[in-house]
Amino acid sequence: MTETKVLSIMGSTGSIGTSALSVVAHANAEGDRPVYEIDTLAAGRDVDGLARQAVEFGARMAVIGDSGLYGDLKSALSGTGISVAAGADAVDESAARPVHRVVAAIVGIEGLSSTLAAIDAGNSVALANKESMVCAGPMLRRRAAETGALIVPTDSEHNAMFQVMERHEDIETLILTASGGPFRTTAKRDLEHVTFEAALNHPRWEMGRKITIDSATLFNKGLELIEAAYLFDMPEERIDVVVHPQSIIHSLVAYRDGSVLAQMGDPDMRTPIAYALSWPDRRQPAAAKRLDLIDLGRLDFEALDEERFPSVGLCRAALRQGGGATVVLNCANERAVAAFLAGQCGFNDISCIVEQAVDRFLSGAMSQQACDTIEVIMAIEAEAGRITEQLLKSASDRPEAR
Ligand code: NDP
Repeated sequence: MTETKVLSIMGSTGSIGTSALSVVAHANAEGDRPVYEIDTLAAGRDVDGLARQAVEFGARMAVIGDSGLYGDLKSALSGTGISVAAGADAVDESAARPVHRVVAAIVGIEGLSSTLAAIDAGNSVALANKESMVCAGPMLRRRAAETGALIVPTDSEHNAMFQVMERHEDIETLILTASGGPFRTTAKRDLEHVTFEAALNHPRWEMGRKITIDSATLFNKGLELIEAAYLFDMPEERIDVVVHPQSIIHSLVAYRDGSVLAQMGDPDMRTPIAYALSWPDRRQPAAAKRLDLIDLGRLDFEALDEERFPSVGLCRAALRQGGGATVVLNCANERAVAAFLAGQCGFNDISCIVEQAVDRFLSGAMSQQACDTIEVIMAIEAEAGRITEQLLKSASDRPEAR
């Protein structure tokens, strides 16, 4: 009989967090003892959602990132026996509590410090928070090697590669698939005017708002390319991107004997999450719809149009630069996406602002700094924030700005 595994979920109220809890509920519903127990659930501001989850899943601890919400969470959980904490340091401390696996599912660079705290404590991490790998991949891998923490890829593409990955020295290329997002067939001149409502309408995946916009610009694929390079120690030129509108093949690994191994499934994050929670033990059941190949009929593939979607090329360039360039790219993208969602810049402005922010950073003194501590990374993030806010202001001051 396998032992019950104890999990903590950072970002439990988000899209990945709720899918992870749905995997837990489904796995625990089978058999006469729970497959998983929950130690800590952490969220940013959603007190009610967090309190509800903590009670439903019998968590030992609930942590809210916004320290001003401590009193609200405390009263929501009074009488339950569930410990309560608040603030960014409390989130990091909770990620360091010893468990079998920490699900890193906070969105954006906000997730970096708790991911690092989990790794430094030697906790195994199911990594969904791609931005922490994009900004700090080499450092996270080095620290994981020092503490023996395992990083289990949970982003569906990286999880797919991980599932079919054999010996590293036999790999020729990694192939990331991209759905192409809601604007796969939209002409370049029309991209200028797309609304955030249209950009949030992803054809295949239901996700949080930030990653949904990233999927529309294809920055998501570029960030995934950087993530794959760092996670799997693979140079950028050996990672290809192919558009696959049905999102059935989640990614592929090509080997030197000509074999190409792919992982397939319905586009549903519960499958990669179930794998990431149970690995290396046997797979646990997940409620995802089963693939019907006859019903599916065909799978299509297209080349990426880099002219309409310059984001993947920008990510490749930042990866080749190394150092702080990927931190700046990520920061500029996060802020430009927030501005787009607030109606403060246009869709095409996102990639322009990212490109200009990285260029400006590279011409400054900070670009020479090695990104080997979180302090340096956060200092570069702060500088990138300043640069990006100036660029966003110039974009919104333009007469043609929305
Ligand atoms: P959501 O926006 O849906 O959820 C984000 C979660 O992070 C929420 O629980 C939010 O809490 C929490 N959070 C935000 N800031 C803080 C903070 N400072 N402290 C603690 N918690 C915080 O995002 P997604 O679930 O879509 O994405 C999460 C990560 O997973 C991203 O990095 C994304 O790129 C990656 N990912 C997502 C996929 C998906 O299908 N959604 C697929 C693959 C990767 P609150 O609810 O209180 O705001």
